Amino acid sequence: MTEKLYWKDAYIKEFEASVVNVIPEGVIFDKTAFYPTGGGQANDTGELLVDGMPYKVNDVRKSGEDIVHILDKNAGIKPGGKVIGKVDWRRRYSLMKYHTAIHILSSLVLKKYGGKSTGNMLYPDKAHIDFDFPQLNRELGIKIVEETQSIIDERHAVTSRLLTKEEAASFPGLIRTQPGEELIKGLASIRVVEIEGVDLQADGGTHVRNTSEIGAIKLSSFENKGAHRKRIEIKIE
Ligand SMILES: [Zn+2]
Repeated sequence: MTEKLYWKDAYIKEFEASVVNVIPEGVIFDKTAFYPTGGGQANDTGELLVDGMPYKVNDVRKSGEDIVHILDKNAGIKPGGKVIGKVDWRRRYSLMKYHTAIHILSSLVLKKYGGKSTGNMLYPDKAHIDFDFPQLNRELGIKIVEETQSIIDERHAVTSRLLTKEEAASFPGLIRTQPGEELIKGLASIRVVEIEGVDLQADGGTHVRNTSEIGAIKLSSFENKGAHRKRIEIKIE
């Protein structure tokens, strides 16, 4: 089981760890600050020194309770090896801004317009979110992004914590999707991300500490992918 340093503190850029296992796909450490693809958030990339030798982290994936780092090469890495990891911070910080922005936008659409989000994907240079919201069109999309910007500009604090299943049950709407409900059935505790005064939802991603860090967003595209699938894409300017 890999300890998730990015849950402790999403702002950890460099860390020390030990190699636990080397498998054909990649390398597993006792702890990591590299975020694996999940919850719509793309993986981190970056660099490593393992016992003084340099490696590139090209991809990061979850495998059960482990986090696997896919490197440019595995040669020379053995269990017990001393790791210094360095996350590509430009990429990750951008993903954090998009992730928090998308939470604000989806919460606004749900609470004000009754539109349900069915999925989202965050990249370092853009993010999109799909809604089951038949009335959504480009014009309304632009308005929603402007309303999201107003909330961003209110400088809300963003925090995360672990809730027991019982505590989580007292917050209806914490888990918004069917796959999400299936996923938490087997978990002892549920991590939630709170944008104070705006949104509280179950989430495994990395977020900024304050919405003011996001800056200015704009609607970069609107796509009508069917009555129950309208896609809003945003870009941070
Ligand atoms: Zn999320």
